[in-house]
Amino acid sequence: MTGPQPARPVPPCARCKCSPGTVTGRNDPLCSTCFISYARSKPIKRMDPFRVRNNPTNAPPPLLLLPFSFGVSSLTLLHILKEHMSSQRTRVGRTGYGLLVVWVDDSGISGDGPGSVRKKETFMGLESHFGGEGSGITFKSVQLEDIYTYSQPQGAPTSSAEGTNLEKLRVLISSLPSLSSKQDILTTLLTRLFIRLAIQHSSPAILFSHSTTRLAEKTLSETAKGRGYSVPWSTSDCTIPLPPSQFPHRKLQTIYPLRDLLKKELHTYLSLTPSLQPFHIPSSSSSSATPSPQSIIPISTAKDTSIDSLMHQYFSQMEQTYPSIVANVVKTIGRVPAPTHLVALAEVAAEVEQSVPNCAVCGFPIDIDEADVWEEEDRDVKKLSVGVLSELGVGVEELCGGCRRSLEGAKEGVGARWPL
Ligand SMILES: [Zn+2]
Ligand SMILES: [Zn+2]
Repeated sequence: MTGPQPARPVPPCARCKCSPGTVTGRNDPLCSTCFISYARSKPIKRMDPFRVRNNPTNAPPPLLLLPFSFGVSSLTLLHILKEHMSSQRTRVGRTGYGLLVVWVDDSGISGDGPGSVRKKETFMGLESHFGGEGSGITFKSVQLEDIYTYSQPQGAPTSSAEGTNLEKLRVLISSLPSLSSKQDILTTLLTRLFIRLAIQHSSPAILFSHSTTRLAEKTLSETAKGRGYSVPWSTSDCTIPLPPSQFPHRKLQTIYPLRDLLKKELHTYLSLTPSLQPFHIPSSSSSSATPSPQSIIPISTAKDTSIDSLMHQYFSQMEQTYPSIVANVVKTIGRVPAPTHLVALAEVAAEVEQSVPNCAVCGFPIDIDEADVWEEEDRDVKKLSVGVLSELGVGVEELCGGCRRSLEGAKEGVGARWPL
């Protein structure tokens, strides 16, 4: 029979060697002060292009768009950047950038009315805590269905019979055949909404708050959904290939400042920062950066589990036991160059006013070689509805492999209500 075990001694902090190492940063025991400084150093390094000295004294600082979802990732990123801006201000009297924090309210699709009310109140609280005169941080909330007001619809002319923006979006989503395709198209719409907002506010960059864990999930799920060729664009710090016919000569960067931190490390940061905790609203399967499509569409049975949800569950477990494997997935994809030759092709096509090989749905340049492979495979799978294509006003060759896959089996109504 054994008696009560003596408490294990707390190891000393691996950095300062004097305080007790009460938390874990990657593999080392750290004290809370050293952990906070480790966690802040990673994203601040990624913000190097926006040092104060890179911004002329007489110019207003560039406004960077930060998608906000009340999850641990975007909340932590907002806090780290606010502290970074404060230290820039203390050192040289001004900041190298400003922030536009955008929350997309998806309650029209999720039906989460009470949740939306709580988020509205929390967002206002966040604004008074972080924003205000001289903070350099502005806050904006938009409805997901607002995407219809940021662009002219393609395809068939719209009529008032199509209803309100929310009704159109509901028909679009309900016309999609599976949970995976609904989540895939919602993610596409969210990304394109953030791009439109960034352009409207003359923002040079979008700061997505994906952690290492979230980027590993995204790498594998995008590949499984037939979007492998565009993964470098959707997971790396890069220039987004905007459709040149819509945005001639406009450049927009994406930056993933939290790409070197695991999700569990962001939770540690939050647990060590009590002032942030009132603004944290976890979703049932919270992802980072953007409102999670997993949270928009409730999952009722295991059979309904989507590729995104499966990858989320898998990497949530992996980061607990094998964090280096998760980090390696992200490092490996980080070395794959974006297919810039496709961007060049699209730009040349736009210059000579030929049909532009940018996908009509997701907006990325189409990999023509890969499209041929899909064409072959399409013979064995359900064809895209001719009605959907004619509603969209495009040929099948104007959709990338990933969007073709998501629209297979879609009912008519998707194309007529496609907002971009
Ligand atoms: Zn320490
Ligand atoms: Zn596409």
